[in-house]
Amino acid sequence: MVNCRGCDSKLSITLLNLGESPIANNLIKGPNLEIQNEYYPLHAMTCENCALVQLSESLPRETIFKPDYVYYSSTSTSWLMHSKLYAKKMAQMLSLNQKDLVLEVASNDGYLLQFFQELGVSVIGIEPALAVAQAAIKKGVPTIIDFFGESLALDLASYQKPKLIIGNNVLAHVPDLHDFLNGIETLISDEGVITFEFPQLLNLLKNTQFDTIYHEHYSYLSITALMPLLKQHKLKVFDVEKLPSHGGSIRVFLAKQTSRWKITQSVQQALLEESQFDPRDEKIYKSLQIKVNKVKSDLLNELYKLKEKRRKIAAYGAAAKGTTLLNYCGIGTDLIEYVVDLNPNKQGGFIPGSLIPIVDPIILTSSRPDVLLVLPWNLSTEIKMQLNDQIKLGTRLIRAIPKVEYF
Ligand SMILES: [Zn+2]
Repeated sequence: MVNCRGCDSKLSITLLNLGESPIANNLIKGPNLEIQNEYYPLHAMTCENCALVQLSESLPRETIFKPDYVYYSSTSTSWLMHSKLYAKKMAQMLSLNQKDLVLEVASNDGYLLQFFQELGVSVIGIEPALAVAQAAIKKGVPTIIDFFGESLALDLASYQKPKLIIGNNVLAHVPDLHDFLNGIETLISDEGVITFEFPQLLNLLKNTQFDTIYHEHYSYLSITALMPLLKQHKLKVFDVEKLPSHGGSIRVFLAKQTSRWKITQSVQQALLEESQFDPRDEKIYKSLQIKVNKVKSDLLNELYKLKEKRRKIAAYGAAAKGTTLLNYCGIGTDLIEYVVDLNPNKQGGFIPGSLIPIVDPIILTSSRPDVLLVLPWNLSTEIKMQLNDQIKLGTRLIRAIPKVEYF
């Protein structure tokens, strides 16, 4: 039996057991492909006590986040836009000036902190992935190459306490939530604000986003589960905002319990909404399993039907969620010839498990597929626009989440 990462109760409810799966982002490079495939259990469980959803078995960070991990946040233009607006909003809300410090955990290549610098505010980033951290430093964004936790926070607090701490898509990746929150509690200034953005569990349950379950994500977060956790660290949620990113994320605003920040109506509203999809409710997790099974059989049926008609099938976007989907459905090169991806660091590699080769999208002009399975369904609109030429030539786009459909 495993204990809850939040409240230490024994975990007893299976939300979804996806069997064994390879580590989603560890793309395989040749030769001897098969030997490199390593499988680990992918089993999401719910804490009956605090409602936190987490993987039953957590792999060490070092196994999952390899030093050569490469994802540059700055490559997504919509994400940059989102970040710029956020910087402006926060600068206004907190009346930030050049004496203030803004700190970001998992600051990647400085995609966000650069906008605070433009506003004349001092910044510091914390980023454990060497290559991306170096890219930030090169840009002039001061960055500490490390994981964030209590010991680092204690060091930093002796210099200056930030007025704003940001953690975008980082909380789910943290194996030790208490060490992380101890760090936040230590470091934030008395009237300072912390914002976290993360995909909301509610959307996973509502829209069958089971492919967002992979080893990098230790926890699947909700406001409901976050409340008791924060209380232990003398923090409060005082505001919640919904965001369209990653198929439905939220931004939570936190501060010390003793601070002046008043709790808005949005918090109660979010809790109420989540209570309709409580992961502890048997009806909810049973219906998730049924919907996941349907995605699998619908997708396989459609792909086999296309194969029988000798249609050419490829996939678009070697996203981590694609590894979970393809592996769970048992899809390999028998059904999907190749995956195209714009990121040159991924090209030449293979999707772990299914061993489907990742190639430059330029191939689409010479080998015209009849159907493209879009793996990062959260970017459907953007991708459809990019593929306008192929669509005009007869390629059809299909996605599997929230249900199998052409779009
Ligand atoms: Zn718990």
